[in-house]
Amino acid sequence: MRLNILFCASEMTPFAKTGGLADVAAALPKHLARLGHKVMVVLPRYYIIDKSKLTFVKGNIGVDMGPLGTLWAGAFKSEYEGIEVYFIDYERYFGRANLYTDDNGFSYPDNDQRFIFFSKAALELARSIGFVPDIVHANDWHTAAQPILLNTKLRSDPYFARTASVYTIHNLQHQGVFSKEAFAYLGIEAKHFNPLEMEALGALNLMKGAIYHADKITTVSKKYAQEIQTPEFGFGLDAHIKAHAYKLYGILNGVDYEEWNPATDPYIAQNYDVEDLSGKKVCKRDLQRIFGLEERQDIPLIGYVGRFAQQKGIELIAGALHDMAHLGVQMVFLGSGEKWAEGFFSDVASYYPNIGTYIGYSNELAHKIEAGSDLFLMPSIFEPCGLNQIYSLRYGTLPIVRAVGGLDDTIENFDPLTKSGDGFKFYDATKEALFGTVKWAVDTWMGDKEGVAAMIDTAMRQRFSWERSAKEYEKVYCDALEVL
Ligand code: ADP
Repeated sequence: MRLNILFCASEMTPFAKTGGLADVAAALPKHLARLGHKVMVVLPRYYIIDKSKLTFVKGNIGVDMGPLGTLWAGAFKSEYEGIEVYFIDYERYFGRANLYTDDNGFSYPDNDQRFIFFSKAALELARSIGFVPDIVHANDWHTAAQPILLNTKLRSDPYFARTASVYTIHNLQHQGVFSKEAFAYLGIEAKHFNPLEMEALGALNLMKGAIYHADKITTVSKKYAQEIQTPEFGFGLDAHIKAHAYKLYGILNGVDYEEWNPATDPYIAQNYDVEDLSGKKVCKRDLQRIFGLEERQDIPLIGYVGRFAQQKGIELIAGALHDMAHLGVQMVFLGSGEKWAEGFFSDVASYYPNIGTYIGYSNELAHKIEAGSDLFLMPSIFEPCGLNQIYSLRYGTLPIVRAVGGLDDTIENFDPLTKSGDGFKFYDATKEALFGTVKWAVDTWMGDKEGVAAMIDTAMRQRFSWERSAKEYEKVYCDALEVL
């Protein structure tokens, strides 16, 4: 069955990106289109997106924002790898320097208006260009208003009467919680503001509402789908999610192997593949040179790429760092985020000659770290899916991960007896557990050459493809239409 899919997200590579959602919003529509579906992607037109590359879409879209009256949006259009991408233009909301926060990292105070407006405008844009969606696929809190609207006000609207909603949670930590006054922007009956649907402690919780109203819910790994039903990972919504688990699916993200392939990667010092790893040594030397580390092949090099956020386990790394620094290893850190961490990782790099740090965002350096490191550190407190550990596998860089969410689903622990597995896992969120596992990985790397070679071989042959994920989403869409 050929479906019309309206895919709405707050970010998409290459137009605007802060995290993994942007990569999903680029890759999944592309692969759904390859399965024969018609996909329309809608994004906000942040003013950081260059207008000269977009085409103007004629006509204005009226968006009823309740007490704010009707606001009129414009639209632009572009094409990305065969997919039609539309942009909602409204300067007052999107004519800013960043996507969600001001330069000091504080959320914009009108994010409720901005994203409820965007959610509604995207649906009205579909109507105005005559695109009748079979599925509206909404993502994270930013577009959580869509499943809510489709199952309330728009149920009686003939245009959307046959439209099912699928809602994907990429990160449960950010739920779109706003004061109860924001409820009025949704323009739905007051009875829906209750603790079963979208009220939480007197506030409006958009994600809670989407979980209640969506026809199907997905999240980005099977393990995370289980975890978010527990208090440890549920961010207060665990009981609510558990109550709706009958319509919850876990679908692992795929990886763009056109970008992340050591055999063709243009950023790395020398290409290599599973048959011939000699290029990896050249990449290691290059990485050591970039970070001013001693150029030695016999010392294991541990890499880290990621946001400096509590989620990523940076506090565990900081706690174990001095012990790790004395293990006879080299370490490189690439990231930015929490200010204390930026200071900490810069300080340790100037103190220890075997540690290098780059504060900032650099895709090129991320590629070089994946290629040039021997081990990759990802000790997340929670991890819905995670991409870097999957890139690491492809580059023969063995991941050291905490066994949560997508990290647990994608990495198989090393077994020294059978030499099976492709990484090293730990369970407790403590610096001792992290340190113990890093030490195990380092000892293995130094002492069990045969085991390490087997792991690298296993790792580099793993594939987490978008073709497979897209087929799983297709199945969810069909299930969603069935319950409609
Ligand atoms: P999250 O979405 O939680 O940040 P993921 O592992 O799913 O984590 O995706 C993060 C993406 O952002 C990866 O593609 C990673 O390489 C990239 N990334 C994160 N921080 C940086 C950085 N400082 N420089 C370059 N790339 C980065």
